Amino acid sequence: MKVFYSPTHRQHAPPFEIFDGGEKITNFEMPERVERILSALRAEARYEIVPPEDFGLGPIEAVHDRGYLRFLQTAFDEWLAEDTDYERTALLPATFPLPGPRGHVPTTLLGRAGYYMTDLSAPIVSGTYAAALASANCALSGAKALAEAKGPTTGQKPSSFILPPSSFALCRPPGHHAGRANCAGYCYINNAAVTAGWLAQFGPVTILDIDYHAGNGTQDIFYERADVLTISIHADPNFEYPYYSGYADQTGAGAGLGFHQNYPLALGTDDAAYLSTLEKAIERISLFQPAFLVVSAGMDIYGEDPLGRIRITREGIRQIGQKIAALNLPTLAVMEGGYNNEALGLNVCAFLEAFHYKTP
Ligand SMILES: [Zn+2]
Repeated sequence: MKVFYSPTHRQHAPPFEIFDGGEKITNFEMPERVERILSALRAEARYEIVPPEDFGLGPIEAVHDRGYLRFLQTAFDEWLAEDTDYERTALLPATFPLPGPRGHVPTTLLGRAGYYMTDLSAPIVSGTYAAALASANCALSGAKALAEAKGPTTGQKPSSFILPPSSFALCRPPGHHAGRANCAGYCYINNAAVTAGWLAQFGPVTILDIDYHAGNGTQDIFYERADVLTISIHADPNFEYPYYSGYADQTGAGAGLGFHQNYPLALGTDDAAYLSTLEKAIERISLFQPAFLVVSAGMDIYGEDPLGRIRITREGIRQIGQKIAALNLPTLAVMEGGYNNEALGLNVCAFLEAFHYKTP
């Protein structure tokens, strides 16, 4: 299986985040996460680690607001150029817009920061934009590998494949909390959404988000689209971040009505309860009959994750991978969250195990 990875992610290493209760803590979303996963994958011969191609801004601008992307690119340097008397290591706003019409984008840096950054866990540092672009290119490269293997013009599966093609994008920073015009929750560019938007030119796409947290950015981006079915299984936002999105009654709008589905999980959900919820999601995907599946693969569902409050075991993660692979769809897994650095590599390997295909 091809694994797309770029060392550029290391340029994004925010020294802190503002956590629950206003505590300033070491940022959970640190470079060590993907380096650990990379070592675990390298230990197995069946993974081929390859660098991403550069797709330019086109596929990213197709799902993100240009003003937001421009802000992400320039904000840190603009901040350094300002005359301030405090230390500047990671940019965060202190003021946010009220709900309702957001017609005015302020011209001042801090005004734009509050406008485009919707919480305190996605600070911008000097390498954030470069890392976010490289992360998106990893996902896009994984998608291109699928499209080429599948045959984009005919939609036919080459007969040499016993199982449909699959690839893994070892993305960092993650993406699923990034909305059309905002960063949040460690996410800046929505890698899965960029990829699904790009793949949609070849046929209908499903994003299945299994990260512990609701994929609110993905929900935002595709909420009114019927060509990309978005499904998220996650901790009930009534008790867990992102709190305001990810409820079962949020099912899309306009042309997209019925093409978004949230499956909130109770506190302490175990393997059996998770897998039965996944069955329902898989039935929904089967009805939609996508040409491609993009999985937002967050490993913070793991019972011993420092940010998670459900109880999925490594064996449970393996079975989740098996059930998704049994859909028999060309599948791109995109790395999202997962913060138990000790366990991350083995958890990712357990998840990917069922996706390997063989050529005769
Ligand atoms: Zn998460």
